[in-house]
Amino acid sequence: MSISENLKNIKSSLPEHISLVAVSKTKPATAIQEAYDVGQRIFGENKIQEMVDKYNELPKDIKWHMIGHLQRNKVKYMAHFVDLIHGVDSIKTLKEIDKQAKKHHRIINCLLQAKIAEEDSKFGLSFTVIKEILASEEFKALENIKVIGLMGMSTFTDNTDQIKSEFSNLNSFFKELGTQHETLNVLSIGMSGDYPLAIDCGSTMVRIGSAIFGNREYQ
Ligand SMILES: *Cc1c(COP(=O)(O)O)cnc(C)c1O
Repeated sequence: MSISENLKNIKSSLPEHISLVAVSKTKPATAIQEAYDVGQRIFGENKIQEMVDKYNELPKDIKWHMIGHLQRNKVKYMAHFVDLIHGVDSIKTLKEIDKQAKKHHRIINCLLQAKIAEEDSKFGLSFTVIKEILASEEFKALENIKVIGLMGMSTFTDNTDQIKSEFSNLNSFFKELGTQHETLNVLSIGMSGDYPLAIDCGSTMVRIGSAIFGNREYQ
């Protein structure tokens, strides 16, 4: 099926309150344009340089989400346009985003990445550290970032019970935090393989790549 057909099918299956991030990493600008032409406006990339190149080439009303692990020294290249940064996993990175956002007189929205998967390869913060960051004076002093929610990635497994328990744990924590921090409204969980499960577990934002654009040759 074509990109536009995939997108229409997925969109029609999503509850209305769910935001769809079309993950276009490694895909050419023509593929993004095809999705754009049928109304998609939020796109996710995992490499800053690639996102910058696509930003320069494509329509300016696209909302660009950085979903990959961040290299702090490259934050400056996207600070003038990035709409949401999903994978923030340290106070150091928050400070760098704040510093770069300030230069452009912007407030950049961020999600803190929570570690919910078993395997060591997945980045992210423990729930305890997330609470500590949000309560810290260092964090409260940052005026040019806004933490609007949490992001998580489940373990890469066919075991749906395990994925479900990881997502549910994160959702419980997200709800608990929400009672103390009213700006936290976004829960970014769910990819091509597990987004229906993520939605059952409280997702408000799904990040879908291969189910829209087809398989990637690398990454
Ligand atoms: C690549 C990627 C996705 C999309 O993965 P698919 O399985 O292709 O849907 C979602 N989130 C992150 C963080 C990614 O790196």
